[in-house]
Amino acid sequence: MILDPEARRRLTALAYELDDILAEAEPAPPEPAIASGTADRRLAVVVGHSEARPGAAGLAPIAAREYHWNRGLAAFMESAARDHKGLALRVFTRDRGGLRGAYGRARDWGARAAIELHFNAAASAQASGTETIYGDKARDGAFAAAVQAAMVSVLGMRDRGCKLPWAGRGATNLSLLAVPSVIVEPGFGSNRGDCRVMHERRGPLAAALVAAAVDFLRAA
Ligand SMILES: [Zn+2]
Repeated sequence: MILDPEARRRLTALAYELDDILAEAEPAPPEPAIASGTADRRLAVVVGHSEARPGAAGLAPIAAREYHWNRGLAAFMESAARDHKGLALRVFTRDRGGLRGAYGRARDWGARAAIELHFNAAASAQASGTETIYGDKARDGAFAAAVQAAMVSVLGMRDRGCKLPWAGRGATNLSLLAVPSVIVEPGFGSNRGDCRVMHERRGPLAAALVAAAVDFLRAA
């Protein structure tokens, strides 16, 4: 089947929506108690997709789907956060209650900003570079710009800029919190060069994302 780019884009957006609807329909086990923590600066890290529907595949050396690789990135971010006094970082997954479950727990915890982790994919193996998606210019624009600049400087790949959600993709995620929220797409899982850079620089990428969030929350 040959699809024109517009049809492919709309089908991809629909697939994301279906993922979310299915995840939200799953029974959610009881909520664990979340310690409130003491830091004023609380950063929620939401791992994109879920164990059951793990998102796009990344080529070697990533050799994993988005969810699994980004669980690793989130763990690097947790350890990077220990270098920043006054920052509390908590990782949320969409495995229980889908998007609404993850963002509901982040909101209840008192998140002051949120970063949702993904990577990109395209039909063309040439598509490359780093982008950040945000939902509302006034609420998210400055945070998106800071996060995007941090990723571009640490990865050194093409700067695709900050974008509003397209065809519904990401629109739901980014409307679930009243605080600055972004979706990061550091590179393309469908591009070998991007995968090599992302995987080799996963630790520095995590540290750069955390440092950008700390600076942003300090100024906020
Ligand atoms: Zn994704």
